[in-house]
Amino acid sequence: MSLTIESGRVVEIHYTLRDDTGEVMDTSDGDEALMYLHGSGHIVPGLERALEGKTVGDAVTVRVPPEDGYGVRDAERVLRVSRKDIPAGPEPEVGMELEAEGPDGDPLMLWVADIQGDEITLDGNHPLAGKTLHFEVAVHSVRDATEDEKHHGHVHGPDGHHH
Ligand code: ZN
Repeated sequence: MSLTIESGRVVEIHYTLRDDTGEVMDTSDGDEALMYLHGSGHIVPGLERALEGKTVGDAVTVRVPPEDGYGVRDAERVLRVSRKDIPAGPEPEVGMELEAEGPDGDPLMLWVADIQGDEITLDGNHPLAGKTLHFEVAVHSVRDATEDEKHHGHVHGPDGHHH
């Protein structure tokens, strides 16, 4: 009897993520399956909903609009700074991720979007924000989460606690 995917179960999936043009943006192909705790918001909401009720061996193809994916792009999260305002470290390159301190003191991830001479454009939107996501997923395993995992809200490794 195989379990179906529902909140509080640990699920392993293999997946390929493509954009509207069919270009592969991310895949677990050739890598380990992705393991996550269903219902905990670790994967994008549109994919989590599509997997609900599925079981081992099921294949799921789903199109996820930005609002159920990594969100719509927010133009206010794009800022231009001068090179001297970037903290000392490796030379900034397009695509590089920088950690800054947000207005509330929480860490804020920024991506280097563009460099024009001394002017650097930083983008606080997730790189996949605004994109429609096309997932192909194969369900690899489903098991009940342990009490510890449910309590912590994340998956623990095969040998128990890893953090
Ligand atoms: Zn834990």
